[in-house]
Amino acid sequence: MSWEMLIGNHRVKATLQAALRDDRLAHALIFSGPDGVGKRQFALALAKAVNCMERGVDSCDRCPACRKIDEGAHMDVILVEPEGTFIKIDQVRQLVQEAYYRPFEAQRRVFILDPADAMNESAANALLKVLEEPPATSLIILLTSRLHALLPTIRSRCQVHTFTPLTIEEVECFLRERYQRPEDQTRLLARLSGGRIGRALEIDLSVYRTWRKEALELLKLLATGDDRARLIKAAEYLGRKLSREEFEDRLSVLNVLLRDILYLTVEGDEADIINVDIAPTLRRLAAAWPLERIASLSAHLETLRRNLQQNVHRQIALEEIFLLMASGETRPSTEAKKRLLRK
Ligand SMILES: [Zn+2]
Repeated sequence: MSWEMLIGNHRVKATLQAALRDDRLAHALIFSGPDGVGKRQFALALAKAVNCMERGVDSCDRCPACRKIDEGAHMDVILVEPEGTFIKIDQVRQLVQEAYYRPFEAQRRVFILDPADAMNESAANALLKVLEEPPATSLIILLTSRLHALLPTIRSRCQVHTFTPLTIEEVECFLRERYQRPEDQTRLLARLSGGRIGRALEIDLSVYRTWRKEALELLKLLATGDDRARLIKAAEYLGRKLSREEFEDRLSVLNVLLRDILYLTVEGDEADIINVDIAPTLRRLAAAWPLERIASLSAHLETLRRNLQQNVHRQIALEEIFLLMASGETRPSTEAKKRLLRK
């Protein structure tokens, strides 16, 4: 993948290209930023740019070196990943040894540690040696979403490049070019991704939509407040039948919906909400439900989410929250309820 194929993070791209052009690329780099924003693609593009046989600031994507890097078969471009949970000291010792060899076929041997924060302390200390006296023919790139989990001594010996999430438009554009999806799905995925292409590729939209449908039913029940038996059932299902992980997933779907509803309540632009494809339904909820009650539900659920670590009794906590919401004196008018329950 050449530079022009990379999406987003234009400042990082420009800085790296300038360093290549002026032949002053550092020997050790840290690419820091959230998961799924393209750090590994940038590292591989850089590996190609330094080793392309048609040498320039960009890679040609055609020469044997470029093709081998694309196929993950280049002897001098080495990806170091965790074996199990950690990148272990033996893996780093081997890297250090190999970093001092002449490249087999390239200009520079490139080592990409992904994620570098998976190094345990002894592995990190072993890496320091090569960072202190970097061989001229090696380039070490550490990828991390947790910069502060790296030893300060490592951070200070590397040039840090900070990656940020992509814009919604950039993710949309990427998805549109690569995949044949209906436009409403592309828009929804891009918004759910939080600007991380890696995340957009992981999301199963049909699962998300099923969960969202359940969450919407619950929100309607809470807004009308009439059917306490169903609310208690919902608390039992969410609180007892689901594993904690499944529950947290459902909770985050609920929270995103509530945020959208709040946004619409304060007359935000429809195009800026996450669940753009169901804006009319969310508008009806927003109109039927007083702002302070939506905010209060959101706050209660957030408190519950934070208390999950302390083994709070989920079912009881949910029942309390639901019944409190349903009993509110600021319940919607009969007219608003009718609008709400209309499909
Ligand atoms: Zn090439």
